Amino acid sequence: AAKLGGKDRIVRFDAGLRAAADRHRELAAGLRRALRDGELTLHYQPVVRLADGRITAVEALLRWHPPGGEPIPPAAFIPVAEATGLIVPIGRWVLRRACAEAREWHERDGVAVTVNVAAHQLREPDFADDVRAALAAAGLPPSALVLELTESALVREAEAAARLGPLRADGVRIAIDDFGTGYSSLAYLAHLPVDVLKIDRAFLATAVDTPLMRAILQLAEGLSLQTVAEGVETQAQAAALRALGCDGAQGYLFSRPVPAGAVPPLLRGLELGAARTG
Ligand code: C2E
Ligand code: MG
Ligand code: MG
Ligand code: MG
Repeated sequence: AAKLGGKDRIVRFDAGLRAAADRHRELAAGLRRALRDGELTLHYQPVVRLADGRITAVEALLRWHPPGGEPIPPAAFIPVAEATGLIVPIGRWVLRRACAEAREWHERDGVAVTVNVAAHQLREPDFADDVRAALAAAGLPPSALVLELTESALVREAEAAARLGPLRADGVRIAIDDFGTGYSSLAYLAHLPVDVLKIDRAFLATAVDTPLMRAILQLAEGLSLQTVAEGVETQAQAAALRALGCDGAQGYLFSRPVPAGAVPPLLRGLELGAARTG
């Protein structure tokens, strides 16, 4: 095998960095165009109540399909959107779109819509006004909206997080996304303005019934938080979570994220079939 000299390695490293920087710039320019030209859409994934298998909410998830290209996954473009600040106008678009699309689902089936919010958005002084405007424009009641923030966003933006107070007073609920992957300071949790704990799918990588999972569910109960397990892929996981008292679940077992047009059939239960737990 060829032995890499130090010099070669530096050249390769530089080339790698340059390629990453080029990719970053390309994605940033692409995203700006995507927002302007309407290349972004939302898919929705149901959140299911484990007690009876009913869909209580749908999570809005951004999709980007550049014309003539391959779809680009959120894991590739969300970090670029955050680094460039583009997440602020994109996030505003997501909020408006999700509220508008969810209005009739809420009216007919009572489901809520959950929207991911980046730390950067929380730093905007008019964030709460944007949320209220999106609700008003859609005619959606505040109680039908859940905002998902990561633990680290809520902890790092503690001051900004205080802006969530008035929205919560309106009836908007706040969820901690990917719980257990961030700061995980349990003491802190009691002070965060949250209503729902979304347990990261990393906790389902091994057995579901672990001391850690029991501790999280117990903590949530002590703090009167709703619990939703993310990334549920098997019937056995759903059954174990239900037995442990977890309130809700989300994952491929119930449905992959689907385009808006496919949501009403899901809500009518046509597509859930055997995946129903209740
Ligand atoms: P998230 O908010 O934790 O969303 C859940 C992710 O897990 C989604 O990936 C979903 O497709 C995926 N997922 C759902 N069920 C399963 C399962 O059973 N197994 C596995 N392996 N994965 C499952 P997606 O759509 O690729 O989104 C990735 C992340 O991008 C989201 O994680 C969220 O952090 C971010 N994101 C997506 N849309 C938005 C948005 O509108 N705004 C912001 N700020 N972030 C967003
Ligand atoms: Mg989420
Ligand atoms: Mg999540
Ligand atoms: Mg997650």
